[in-house]
Amino acid sequence: MLQNMSTAEKDNVLSVCANCGKEGDDVNNICNKCKQVRYCNAVCKKVHKKKHKKDCEEHIRIATEKHDEKLFKQPSPLEDCPICFLQLPYLDPTGKKYMTCCGKSICSGCYYAPVYDNQGNKVDNKTCPFCRTQTPTTDEESVERLKKRFEAGDAKAIFNLGCDNRDGTDGHRQDHTKALKLFHRAAELGDAKSYGSIGYAYLHGRGVEVDKKKAMYYYELSAIGGNTVARYNLGNDELRAGNMNRAVKHYMIAAGSGLSESLEHIQHLYSNGHATKDDYTKALQLYQTYLGDIKSKQRDEAAAFSEEYRYY
Ligand SMILES: [Zn+2]
Ligand SMILES: [Zn+2]
Ligand SMILES: [Zn+2]
Ligand SMILES: [Zn+2]
Repeated sequence: MLQNMSTAEKDNVLSVCANCGKEGDDVNNICNKCKQVRYCNAVCKKVHKKKHKKDCEEHIRIATEKHDEKLFKQPSPLEDCPICFLQLPYLDPTGKKYMTCCGKSICSGCYYAPVYDNQGNKVDNKTCPFCRTQTPTTDEESVERLKKRFEAGDAKAIFNLGCDNRDGTDGHRQDHTKALKLFHRAAELGDAKSYGSIGYAYLHGRGVEVDKKKAMYYYELSAIGGNTVARYNLGNDELRAGNMNRAVKHYMIAAGSGLSESLEHIQHLYSNGHATKDDYTKALQLYQTYLGDIKSKQRDEAAAFSEEYRYY
């Protein structure tokens, strides 16, 4: 049995009938529960059903375990700001800004920081703090720049264009089908947030039929890729379903990625007896470690100046 299982895992599915041993491409009647075992026809499948039951459950258990191991891994922290070299906050677009000139994401602190001339006088900062390109003065110019980044295959630009098509902003007509296409493309290029947007489209039927299962599938991909908001949504979903253990696991990861609301949820679950004191202490520590990594005087100054620069 064990030997069978490891072969099945390697090739995903066996091309040998688990009942009669027949081999070949036409052995393609797959067990629809575990999807790990094949039969040459429905008769073999039926005959083998009772014998396969235990193996089937084991296949499912292992697959779930593997899936959860991947799902509940703390994703690596976000990239650093290319100017101050401090970790970028997850908050978007107040904590960081995407620059359509160079395609860099810059923290609110560096974006807001005043620029001085060589006499030490403050000058009007109208250039990108990273590449020093003049900031666009018209909407058309912004759109044109985003288009250029899009053509260069920049995943974030593709995602932004997807959002414009979804929301009908920046001179785009609302087009959910086109938006979805763009989100898929950006996701394939590694933009985790795009997976979240695909999930949202399936959840609310924007450009596709409502499909909760698919929505959750994409939210999971997004969360695994490091999208904190998708992670938080998964936590809320488990909470609604009454799966407190899984909810806590999601909230724990989201707290470690800086989402303070998930810390509040864990505190609440603790006071209701659905989480332990250790859970809450750990979540608090993770959140504080995150804060320690992202906090800076410059970012505080920007945040104190305006809500537009809030970063935690
Ligand atoms: Zn057979
Ligand atoms: Zn099975
Ligand atoms: Zn910075
Ligand atoms: Zn720039």
